[in-house]
Amino acid sequence: MKCALVTGGSRGIGKAVSIAMAELGYHVLINYKSGESEALDTLNKIEAGGGTGELIPFDVADMADVDSALDTWMQNNPDSKIIVLVNNAGIKNDSLLVWMQESQWKDVIDVSLNGFFHVTQKLLIPMLTNKFGRIINIVSVSGLKGLAGQTNYSAAKAGVIGATKALAQEVARRGVTVNAVAPGFIRTDMTKDIQEKELAKTVPVQRFGEAEEVAALVAFLASDKSSYITGEVISVNGGLY
Ligand code: NAP
Repeated sequence: MKCALVTGGSRGIGKAVSIAMAELGYHVLINYKSGESEALDTLNKIEAGGGTGELIPFDVADMADVDSALDTWMQNNPDSKIIVLVNNAGIKNDSLLVWMQESQWKDVIDVSLNGFFHVTQKLLIPMLTNKFGRIINIVSVSGLKGLAGQTNYSAAKAGVIGATKALAQEVARRGVTVNAVAPGFIRTDMTKDIQEKELAKTVPVQRFGEAEEVAALVAFLASDKSSYITGEVISVNGGLY
């Protein structure tokens, strides 16, 4: 069975990506940290569309938790291969740097940047052995241009962008591509508290994006058709730079 693992697949962009992976024919491993009912909703939507999947809860920030969950899954599914990894789980905890607590800095780096390391390193050897793999990292416009109030988040996402470019060069000859997708403002729980009406005016297309618009690009990057694209950062931002 060919599988796709989507971290943070329970809500928002990860939910839309999980559904798109199922539409490509992958059995989808839906990761989440604590939102089981939302993760079950993702699974129900996949099954309603004729796809298959399962839940795999773990905290991407906790290496021991990642190792344990993925080791157990691999032992229980020796004939299945995770050939697509979408590193999507992310949090924000905004503050001007002058007021930022150490925990705010660490928590955001732990989920996005260290989470990328924990999950990717675990799945890389099977992809290299299999001579095929697709790794897609969800980053942000914030990691490309930097956003005031988000030094922690911008640093985490910029770190993943650097890792994407470096890892792409390490694994290209083994049929594994590594790319990043950088959304702008996408309508999810993460952006529900910000003033959409005002901020949309700063976006050239004059609106926030939908999770499905990000998922469409991720699906292309996960497919065979993207074989000659690696080490790229592709924006889905309505023209916002
Ligand atoms: P969201 O609606 O807040 O969903 C976040 C997802 O990540 C949830 O499924 C959540 O699961 C999971 N998650 C959080 N911490 C986790 C952890 N430690 N371990 C495992 N799963 C964890 O966010 P979103 O807007 O869809 O964002 C998805 C990705 O896109 C993030 O990386 C974000 O930085 C990036 N992004 C979003 C936007 C935007 O405008 N929305 C823009 C640029 C980039 P639980 O509920 O179980 O915690």
